Parts: sequence; structure tokens; C-alpha cells
Amino acid sequence: MADILNVFGSHVFNEAKMKERLKPETFASLNKTIKEGTPLDLGILDEVADAIKVWALENGATHFTHWFLPLTTIPAEKHDSFIDFSGDDIVLKFNGKTLLKGEPDASSFPSGGLRSTANARGYTIWDPTTPVFIRTVANRTVLFIPTVFVGYHGEALDRKIPLLRSLNALDKAGKRFMKMFGYDAKRVYPAVGPEQEYFLVDRDLYLKRDDLIYTGRTMFGVLPPKGQELMDHYFAGINNRVTAFMKDINEELWSLGITAKTDHNEVAPLQHETATIFSIGGLAADQNMMLMETLQRTARKHNLVCLLHEKPFAHINGSGKHNNWSVNADNINLTDPTDTPENNLKFLLTLACIIEGVDENAVLLRACASNPGNDFRLGANEAPPAILSIYLGDQLLDVVEQIINKGEATSSIHPHSLDLGIPQIGKITAEATDRNRTSPFAFTGNKFEFRMLASSVCIASANTALNTIMAYEFNKACDALENSKNFEADLKKYIRKTIIDHKRVIFNGDGYTASWPIEAEKRGLPNVKTYIEAISSFTTDKTISMFNSLNVLSDVELKCRQSVAYEMYAKNIDIESKTALLMLDTKYLPAIRAYASDVAVDLDNVSRNSKITDISYKEHLDKVVALLDSASIKKETLKTALMNVRAIEELHNKALAYLQIIVPILASIRGDIDALEEIVAKSYWPVPSYSDLFIED
Ligand code: ADP
Ligand code: MG
Repeated sequence: MADILNVFGSHVFNEAKMKERLKPETFASLNKTIKEGTPLDLGILDEVADAIKVWALENGATHFTHWFLPLTTIPAEKHDSFIDFSGDDIVLKFNGKTLLKGEPDASSFPSGGLRSTANARGYTIWDPTTPVFIRTVANRTVLFIPTVFVGYHGEALDRKIPLLRSLNALDKAGKRFMKMFGYDAKRVYPAVGPEQEYFLVDRDLYLKRDDLIYTGRTMFGVLPPKGQELMDHYFAGINNRVTAFMKDINEELWSLGITAKTDHNEVAPLQHETATIFSIGGLAADQNMMLMETLQRTARKHNLVCLLHEKPFAHINGSGKHNNWSVNADNINLTDPTDTPENNLKFLLTLACIIEGVDENAVLLRACASNPGNDFRLGANEAPPAILSIYLGDQLLDVVEQIINKGEATSSIHPHSLDLGIPQIGKITAEATDRNRTSPFAFTGNKFEFRMLASSVCIASANTALNTIMAYEFNKACDALENSKNFEADLKKYIRKTIIDHKRVIFNGDGYTASWPIEAEKRGLPNVKTYIEAISSFTTDKTISMFNSLNVLSDVELKCRQSVAYEMYAKNIDIESKTALLMLDTKYLPAIRAYASDVAVDLDNVSRNSKITDISYKEHLDKVVALLDSASIKKETLKTALMNVRAIEELHNKALAYLQIIVPILASIRGDIDALEEIVAKSYWPVPSYSDLFIED
């Protein structure tokens, strides 16, 4: 059994180790850079690098890597051994220069046109705000150095640079905000706690399905008689195999200093969730990437495969990620209403800023939370709708209504006591605010839960958007109020006006009902159903001016990110198409033809020998043949359509064509094959079906 306290952080060169192994003044300088954002003193680099090297070697490291988050979907690493020459001698070398800067020949990462392969110098530069760590895979221990990835001219080529810039923008604007209220804050920062959903499938079965291997989701397949209807997988006792997996996951994460906290079974068969305790600044993004990788690596050890795709199985729930987010100034949580929100003007202004920011940037937030796979979830009754709205709960809604109606709030609903009438069970206090599982942006007591995120997405993008929006709104409020002669009265007016102007985004009801999109449309709230449409928000004048003015992303960098998104979308759907064709040609169609042919022979025998015509058997064959013909014809349609779509050069049009032309053909072919799966004898079916995959042992 793991001793959590000993295991936790054992593979991380964390604050305690820095303190122990660095000179006090070196530690103080580095710690100030990490915590307060003071410029990194390059003079300390050699000492820091040496301490890291000694610690890594003590722990068996033979290699180091600059680890970064390019614009693909997974982190990048390139291992260099510590080996070097000093004169004729072999030495182990790792100094300040190697810690600080790497120059990978990383020309193959997507840049959205920012650089050509021929002109592709790029650097990885140490980001001291995420501690270095070691990781052992197959007995090779590697020192991981979290870095940012930047082009020759300083352009951001990764997901980390904009996140770090957004943190600085929020810090700066937040300090201005706090100053208005008479505080000199040392640091204003977000806290972020992601909850991660995933599926685990048996690896032997996985390897029999090309769609799972190449696309991460099943592109064909029907539900067995029992799916998730009874909700009996949700929070059910966790079976042996999954428990063993979770145990390994927890221990690995703890050793990496990641606070694995909650594990449970989710609603769909094979679906689970792991949540960590929130961390501050940009750390949560790196840690969530490590978590996703750890889930996948560890699954392999248990002969399982971890699917992080948003919709591995049609007709049952898919996976998302909840990004719990709060804004804090030193020890004050600005998103905490405290006991008397009606009097807490700092909180009410923060709330007004969030309401305005979400309303003004709804499509941007929706885009930053998404990826191609999320299109299968948003708007289905398992995930929030594609409409951005804010759930405030009873207490805050009441406060907000008082402000709108009376100019200010004078009271608030308090927590109430629950008496079950069972003396043995004591009275408990219920929070002043209930939860709402259908809202994309829900207030949950002292934080907001942004529930729209795709399960496999890097949370850096959504958090970059949240931090930038918040910084923008703080600055806007400061511009309006900083020099006010009558601060409190003006502040109250500002809060009221902001809330009135943006109250359309507040929705406390059930986001899953059919009436909500109609109501939302009346309110003028955008309902952008697809990722590709949402991506256009990257380059609106509003987004460009907000990101530019806060030095988070330049217009060129935003355009590049948009191009990468279009390109990745097109490539994703193209891979899905090729996979569908492969499965049709080599698995489904041959198997169904063989079945149809056997049925035809059998039918012939039956009618010849018994002189009886089994009408329903004949109809069955007709149905199989009709569906087979239909699928074959659609397959040819798909091939032709692909040729045309692939020829489109302009990336936006290309992505749109994949969305509007190819995706419907794929869905239609699936319709035929799924209808066949329901009537073709199981012994002929060429791939494991959902019923095979859903058995958890
Ligand atoms: P749920 O009921 O949705 O699981 P929890 O209260 O357990 O919610 O918390 C979910 C996540 O929110 C966890 O990662 C938790 O650490 C994080 N969290 C809690 N408080 C805050 C906060 N003030 N700011 C940001 N995240 C927080
Ligand atoms: Mg949650």
C-alpha cells in the first residue's frame, strides 16, 4: 500500500527540494520569479541546473527532455542523454544553458503557416512555473523540463505561451482591480481544478476495431438491449480490474505531485472519472496533460485502452471535462460570495465582470473548449448545450434581481438547515445554492464550473480565454471607476448597468429542455452548433483587439491558430473517412455478402425441400440485400466526395466541406451498417460489437 505522504511529489523537483538543495538567496530569487512573476535571474541558472541534475541522477535519470505543448493534441518530448565529452573524457553534462533553452528540429509541428519547413528555427525555453519532474518508462528515467515552444521571431507555437501571457494579463488587471478596493495584492491568479472523464476498453477487443485504433471512437455499432438506461453504472462499485488501474494511476500521479483525489464510475458503461484538487496559475494545464498521458500509459499495463475521445460510443454518454475556475487575489477568493454577498461589492463587481465577459465572448469560449469530437456531445442530453449561459443558483440570482429591481441588494438567501426527522441523523446545513448539471457555466459556491470542455482537449486554451476575458473586464471596470469621486455609488451603478446589459446570459433553468434553445434565440444568445463555425470567433475584431491589447496573442498568432484548427478538423474527418472505407471494404461488406449469400442458398434449400416459402425469411434477405446495396452505393459517393473535398485548397472552405458534405455521408453509411448489425447473424459480424465491448470484468 502506498504511503501517500511519502509518495506525493517524490518525482518532482518541488519547492521543498529547491529549498533544500539551493543556496538560500538562489531559492529566494527563483521562488519570487515563480510566485510573483519577477524576471528570471539568468545568473542563477547554472546553480539551479546543477541541483536539478544531481537530484535527477540520484533518482536514476539518464536522459532529459524539454517537454512542451505544441498545437497538436499531445505533449512533445525528445530525449537527450546526459552524456557529453570533456576533452577526451566522457562526462555527464547539464548546465544552465541546457536547462534554459533547447533548439529541437521541431519543424513538423503545426504552425498554421507561421513558419515553413525550410525556415523553421524554433526554441524550447524553460518555464519555471511548472516544476521539473522525472518519469520512468520501461526502466528509462527521464528528467522532464516543462518549456514553452517559440518560433525564431518570438511567435507562440504552443498552448503554453498564451496561457502564461494570459496569467500575467490577469495578474496585472487584477492588481489594478484590488487597488481600487484599497488592497495592494501581491498576486492575482486563477485556481483551476479539472475533472476528467474517460472510457476503458479491453485492449484485445480494441485491437479488432480499426475505428477505435485510428479515430479513437466507434464509427459503427448499435447499443445492446441494455445501455445506460438504469443509471446503474454511475457511482457503482468499481470492479477489480478498474480498481487496480485506478490504484496505479493514483500512485503515479501522486509521485508527480498531482493531487489525484476522486475516482468514480460515470454514467455510461466503461466510463469513469478522475478529478484532482485545483492548482493555481498554469500548473493545472500541464498536470492535466500529464494525467491524460498517465491514464493512457497505465491502461496498457492492465491490457486496457483508455479512450479520451468525446464520443467513443454513439447513443450513450460521451466524455467531457469540467474546468472549475476561480479568481483569487493573494488569499482572497474573488469568486466567493462570502456570507453576505449583498454587501460584498468586490465580489459583485467580479460577478458583473464575469457575466459581461461570458456574454460578450460566448462563441470564443465555446470554441476554446472544443475540438472536432465535441460536436458529438454539445447539445445532446448529456452535455451542456452549445449555447453559453450562466447558472447563478438561487442565492445569487436573488441578489442580482434585487440589484436590477432596486438598484442594490440588501439581503441574501442563507444556507438552510435540513432536518430529516431521524434523530440519529443530525441536522445538516444545505448550501445557499443548489447545483445545475445542465449549465455550461455554473456557479458552484465559490467558483465557476465551465462544463463545456471536450474530454481530450488541452485545458490551456479554455483557461487562456477565461483569464484574458477576465483581465479585459477588470481593466474595463477600472477604466470606468478608478478615478471616481464617488466610488461606492458609481460602483453600484456600474454593477447594475453591467448586469442589466448582460442579464440575457443568466439562465437558472434546465439547459437540456427543448424549450431552452428557443428561449435562448429570443434572447439573442448564439447557438453555434459546430466547432468549425465557432472557430471563426478567433479572428473577429473583438477577439483580436482583446487578445492584442493584453499581449496574449497577436492577430497573426490568432489567425494561425484558426488555420491549425481548420486543418486539424479536415484531417480528422479525412482519417475517419479512410477508416470507414477500410472497414467497409475489408470487414463489413465481405461479411455481409457472405451472410447474404448463405441466406440465399439456405432459403433456396428450404423452399425446394419443404415446398414452403418462408415469407419472412425472404423479406429478411431482401432487407439485407437492400441495405448492403445502399451502403455500397454510399461508399462510392463517399469516395467521389472525398476527391472533390480534398482538392479544395482554402482551409476554411475545406473544413466546411468536410463538415457539410463528408460528415453526413459517414452518418448515412453508419445508418445502413447499424441497421444490418441488428439483423445479421452475430457469428458473421466481423468486429466486436458494443455488447462485447461493454462487458466489464
Ligand atoms: P464536484 O462536485 O463537481 O466534483 P468539487 O467541489 O468536488 O465539485 O470540486 C471539483 C473541482 O473543483 C476539484 O478539482 C476542486 O479542487 C475544484 N475546486 C474547489 N474549490 C475551487 C476553487 N475555489 N477554485 C477552483 N477550483 C476549485
Ligand atoms: Mg463537476
